[in-house]
Amino acid sequence: MNSTKFDSEVTLWVFEEELDGKKLSDIINEEHENKKYLPGIKLTSNVVAIPDLVTAVKNADILVFIIPLEFASKICCDMAGHLKPGVFGISLIKGIQHNPGTLLLTSDVIREKLGIKISVLMGANIAQEVADEQFCEATIGCEDEKQGKIFKELFETMNFKMSVVKDEETVELCGALKNVVALGAGFIDGLGHGGNTKATVIRLGLMEMISFAKIFCKKPVELTTFLESCGIADLVTTCYGGRSRKAAEAFVHTGKTFEELEIEILNGQKLQGPPTAKEIYNILKNKDLTDKFPLFVCIYEICCEGKAVKELITCLQNHPIYK
Ligand code: 13P
Repeated sequence: MNSTKFDSEVTLWVFEEELDGKKLSDIINEEHENKKYLPGIKLTSNVVAIPDLVTAVKNADILVFIIPLEFASKICCDMAGHLKPGVFGISLIKGIQHNPGTLLLTSDVIREKLGIKISVLMGANIAQEVADEQFCEATIGCEDEKQGKIFKELFETMNFKMSVVKDEETVELCGALKNVVALGAGFIDGLGHGGNTKATVIRLGLMEMISFAKIFCKKPVELTTFLESCGIADLVTTCYGGRSRKAAEAFVHTGKTFEELEIEILNGQKLQGPPTAKEIYNILKNKDLTDKFPLFVCIYEICCEGKAVKELITCLQNHPIYK
């Protein structure tokens, strides 16, 4: 944010935790560093951590949602009725909501609970690399042209470039579905296969992402959205450097469950791939579409139903794309 158009103070709601006997919010405010989740990265002093949710959001003009998927609904319920009139928001949460058998986007939950306009920001943005200010880009999905310009100005820096598209639903779905494909990429790494097989998973995964969006988005899907950072770029980076890929590789090597691996390797962070794979599978099953999405289904079955990881290769060999 380089503009003087915005309030200089950014309030950051922090779920209070203790670290070495100190409150995380105090650590952030005194040392300007989130020592639990982003150690070694200095935050600017205009970022003020507030542990009370209502105090953190009540004077906000713009809300930026970046919280674990599974807490979004509850947190919105706690915020409802405490917001300034005219407030609008943007969600950076990559994943869909638990909703038996039908697609429920996280942005839809926020919209419904708070009654405000919500856009989305997704992209090839491995957190540590963004924090290190390595060059990257992201996609803002925003139907409202005026708000799209505000978000671009708010987020863009020399090393964090924004494109704005209107196709909000597709942008958000890309952010969710790529985590399922990344599990597949991690399984391939775990099996010891090389770049060719992983590239196949990425390509077939992209094809299934497109088909899924075409069936389930309420508005027309622009194929060009898949060429934005939220599409192919996020898919590629996540299949190489994402947490779901890493956990899936460890799943093959250790035989541990994803629940155990989440605790062991994510230090309190949440893994979005397995819950998303499960939701996507339930939606496909409910609509009798499992045979059209063999890769998504196989990844789910390996994650949650004890299918042997090597069956992923059988799935690729028999994928209907080759028929
Ligand atoms: P994780 O945040 O789960 O590592 O996924 C990577 C990502 O979203 C990169 O854009």
